[in-house]
Amino acid sequence: MLLQFNLPIPIPIPCFPTSSLIDMGSFQLSRALLGSRRNWVVRSQASLTRFCSSGVIKGVSDTSSPSVHESPSASASEHAVANASEAILKSRTWNEHQLTADQLQFRSLASDFAENELMPFAAQWDEQKHFPVEVLRKAAGLGFGGLYCGHDVGGSGLSRADGAVIFEALAYADVSTTAYLTIHNMCASLIERYGTEDQRQDFLRELTSMDLLASYCLTEPNSGSDAASLQTTARRQAGSTDYILNGEKAFISGGGAADVYLVMARTGEAGPKGISCFYVDKDSKGLSFGRQEDKLGWRSQPTSSVILDDVRVPERCLIGKEGEGFTIAMSALDGGRINIATCSLAKPSLTFKTPNSS
Ligand SMILES: Cc1cc2nc3c(=O)[nH]c(=O)nc-3n(C[C@H](O)[C@H](O)[C@H](O)COP(=O)(O)OP(=O)(O)OC[C@H]3O[C@@H](n4cnc5c(N)ncnc54)[C@H](O)[C@@H]3O)c2cc1C
Repeated sequence: MLLQFNLPIPIPIPCFPTSSLIDMGSFQLSRALLGSRRNWVVRSQASLTRFCSSGVIKGVSDTSSPSVHESPSASASEHAVANASEAILKSRTWNEHQLTADQLQFRSLASDFAENELMPFAAQWDEQKHFPVEVLRKAAGLGFGGLYCGHDVGGSGLSRADGAVIFEALAYADVSTTAYLTIHNMCASLIERYGTEDQRQDFLRELTSMDLLASYCLTEPNSGSDAASLQTTARRQAGSTDYILNGEKAFISGGGAADVYLVMARTGEAGPKGISCFYVDKDSKGLSFGRQEDKLGWRSQPTSSVILDDVRVPERCLIGKEGEGFTIAMSALDGGRINIATCSLAKPSLTFKTPNSS
């Protein structure tokens, strides 16, 4: 276990801005704005205002309260949170000329959420290995649970570039929780793009709201970088349209906690063309989970093996066609890699920006 998603990016220099990473890619940040995206901002800001007025989120622009940074009675962790929050605020003016007006608003919204809902608790969650599902659902309330999904299924209809801006702002406060959120979004996006209309309508609403959490299951104990050699099988049972899945997946983010598992399994020949993608319910008979992996950091999201022992999956849960699973899995990772890179760059950037960081 040496790599995560084998990121195809150069080793970043300190403070390398994610927005530059986007510029180097094929994204067009200054493309024409869609009305629907503006609606998203309005809806999300309304949500944020609701949170603020109910006292759940305290506005970051409230400068009337005394600074924890200056208070002699503040604890070391309060100092750390205050310093990091200050750095988040400073980050908002960073490279703004490269972002669209909408993206600046997305970032502001995400930064508010990060500062108030993630930053104060991130260290505690990591220490206690606590997976903050309720906070993830609050994030979904702002539209962050289905960033790339259509509005008709509760999604936000945003681009990869928009998502990178949002994830970067969240990861300043908590890389681990944000990284899980990126994987959940990757799964929802996979169904958005490759699912049938029935599958979109059946599966996506509960994912965009994060009432259900999703995991992506490609890696196996004997296939990591060489994912096309995976050995988990999905065989049709004689006289039935159901598939029977057998095998083991390794290092699955959200493993054991997620409600839905997108499993790549072999339905045909050896190699990439024999792989298919399945939507597997956590309650399926024969599905179980190995022990939680112990990690250095990244402990606010669970990581475990996922074991499939004669798990019956109905045909309606095949995503895409038989044999398309590898293409689907790789296409999902095209976005997933950007998001994991974004998360990975955010925290070091914050560290370098935080006052008194050494
Ligand atoms: C925290 C964490 C969360 C993860 N979450 C998920 C998840 O949600 N879903 C999922 O499916 N997977 C997940 N993974 C697994 C991850 O995608 C794999 O770790 C990754 O694909 C690499 O596979 P591996 O660990 O088996 O390493 P290997 O493939 O064994 O690679 C080990 C090393 O050998 C190098 N190498 C491999 N092949 C070659 C070659 N042909 N030539 C030269 N060098 C080579 C690699 O670059 C690497 O440095 C997660 C991993 C981690 C650490």
